Amino acid sequence: MSITVVKFGGTSMADAKAITQVADIINQDKRRRYVVVSAPGKRFSQDHKVTDMLYACYHDLQINGECADTFNKIRERFKGIVQDLGISLDIDAYLDEVERDMHKYNSAEFCASRGEYLSAVIVAKKLGFDFIDAKDLMIFTDNGEFEAELTNERVKQVLNNVDKAVIPGFYGADASGIVHTFSRGGSDVSGAVVARAVGASLYENWTDVNGFMSADPRIVANPKPIEKLSYKELRELAYMGANVLHPESIFPVRASGIPINIRNTFCPQADGTMIVPELDDSELNKRVITGIAGKKGYSIVYIEKSMMNSELGFVRKVLAVLEYYNISFEHLPTGIDTMSIIIPDSELAAKEDVVVERIKSVVRPDHIEIKSGISLVATVGHGMSYKPGTASALCGALAKENINIRMIDQGSSEMNIIVGIATSDYERAINAIYHAFQK
Ligand code: ASP
Repeated sequence: MSITVVKFGGTSMADAKAITQVADIINQDKRRRYVVVSAPGKRFSQDHKVTDMLYACYHDLQINGECADTFNKIRERFKGIVQDLGISLDIDAYLDEVERDMHKYNSAEFCASRGEYLSAVIVAKKLGFDFIDAKDLMIFTDNGEFEAELTNERVKQVLNNVDKAVIPGFYGADASGIVHTFSRGGSDVSGAVVARAVGASLYENWTDVNGFMSADPRIVANPKPIEKLSYKELRELAYMGANVLHPESIFPVRASGIPINIRNTFCPQADGTMIVPELDDSELNKRVITGIAGKKGYSIVYIEKSMMNSELGFVRKVLAVLEYYNISFEHLPTGIDTMSIIIPDSELAAKEDVVVERIKSVVRPDHIEIKSGISLVATVGHGMSYKPGTASALCGALAKENINIRMIDQGSSEMNIIVGIATSDYERAINAIYHAFQK
């Protein structure tokens, strides 16, 4: 029988009611044999995610040498869940062990990982599945790099002998047993890693929305849901801020072509979004664009120099300055005598002046300035490839709204047009583009 790997996010773990719903979903389909879970998330908008509380514990430990107040809130949260589930589990013993170990290891990553650990212990008990600790599966190097191939072998080997298991997401360990985590939201990556290793025919990622929307519903009223999208479209949209799925989740499943199905724990009858290796022609002909996503918080380093195009090594010298200051950039549109480097503000922070001075001394530009307050909006879709008129419709929609395009970049795959605009125009720009394509 084929295998489905399922991953449940923070809201699906938030309380006993949600976990009971999770157990029902798993029990409905025998193929759902390997379960990856997040730490309990928010139950209501003012609530705290357990992972955030665990980072706060680490912070308390650094400042006061203890974290009893914050940890007690976490303790109450887990005790409440176990009590309401009515399972017989000595959760206090686990919580005592976690509190002790947090003092012992005294690392932010270790502290943060304990939410997933405790979630998985509880869900395993509720389902009667084995608990397999992620520290014995996910391999990291000493400096926290994830070892994809070694992990794949390890997970294959361990799970080969386990019929049904619950595995904590988000973390793993290095050879000396020190815990490391993926970046925030990383349980999605853990799920994808398990799906690859067990040769799953489907990776279901259960969250609290009915899949990907073609635009952010906080910005566009009732955006159309996306039924199907390709790995590449997902990567573009997720990277550019559509945060339903961690942008790196695609890598483990890509090689084996395992589809990812985004589903809603609280509306299991909805089909959600299917993410597939390639879209077929009928799908491509249905629509020009698949979705729009965007991010705020960018600056443009704008450089002008006459005859820049004929000066050998110009771009390399400028980029070497960024590399020297450990700054990564996102886009680099160039003209004959101009170049613009689009950089996230978080990368540039406090280094603006030194970077400008250094570029001045290295390439002697006629003019250099940093323009801040920029947002990027990505319009994504295989449907636009090789079709004339997409950029024109997009620019026309922005012009009609009187929005000035500060930068425009179309990837050579032609599945993606990115515009840089003033952050004050951000919401209006997304609405304008959305309505230009969704008639
Ligand atoms: N609990 C972690 C976070 O909040 C990881 C995850 O949920 O995927 O980022």
